[in-house]
Amino acid sequence: MTAYTLGSLLYEGKAKRVFATDQPDLVAVEYKDDATAFNALKKAQLAGKGELNCRISALLFEHLASRGVPTHYLGVQGSQWMLVRPVRVIPIEVVIRNVAAGSLCKQMPIQPGTPLEPPLLDLYYKDDAYGDPLLTEARLDVLGLVTLDQRRELEELARRVNGELLTLFDGIGLQLVDFKIELGFTAGGELVVADEISPDTCRLWDRAVTDASDRILDKDRFRQDLGGVVEAYGEVLKRVQGACPEPRIYR
Ligand code: UDP
Repeated sequence: MTAYTLGSLLYEGKAKRVFATDQPDLVAVEYKDDATAFNALKKAQLAGKGELNCRISALLFEHLASRGVPTHYLGVQGSQWMLVRPVRVIPIEVVIRNVAAGSLCKQMPIQPGTPLEPPLLDLYYKDDAYGDPLLTEARLDVLGLVTLDQRRELEELARRVNGELLTLFDGIGLQLVDFKIELGFTAGGELVVADEISPDTCRLWDRAVTDASDRILDKDRFRQDLGGVVEAYGEVLKRVQGACPEPRIYR
């Protein structure tokens, strides 16, 4: 028995579909098996990825909520559905880097694997048409997407998320290299973590493995054609499940 009825499709992204429900304070998110990289130039269907990302995201949102970090998450239903509060997502991708990897090493003379202390926080303008460009403080001002206070608040929240996730992943033998989050405002004006947190949006390295390719348990396996993408995500879920209870079923 479900307590809601699915409504119209509000938005379809690369990895998820977002639906309205018959309740104004409830939105349903379907995690798809589609994998994309390089601004959707590379695409594939990976059976099981949607379910894995939905489960991992749910457990991570619940963990964050238990640590007092506000999120849009309400619960899961079925294998790849997540129920969330509707939020006005700020079109800014907040990236926190604990270790140099990915685009940072292409744009700056810094070796992959270099620890970043304090963690580097980068803001990107979320718009595929512009290729998600890096934002400077001045460009952020020009766009006027957030006030200075809101920007400080979102950066502080992102650093709190990093602290909580670093501790959690460390305890299950995973190194949180970097990750992207999106934040939004609820109808009541509360700033919350939204979107997803999964191996699609985090770089995670197995601490017990030294080989630079073999240790990768995230979307870089897809980006770099390393194979074993779903298996790696499955390993992440297994470990997260060891630290967090089963996700809450939405009723
Ligand atoms: N990321 C993401 N969505 C994006 C861009 C980046 O989830 O549109 C994540 C990515 O998976 C990594 C982190 O943010 O964990 C930093 O990504 P980076 O800037 O290095 O870009 P990439 O190398 O993925 O192009």
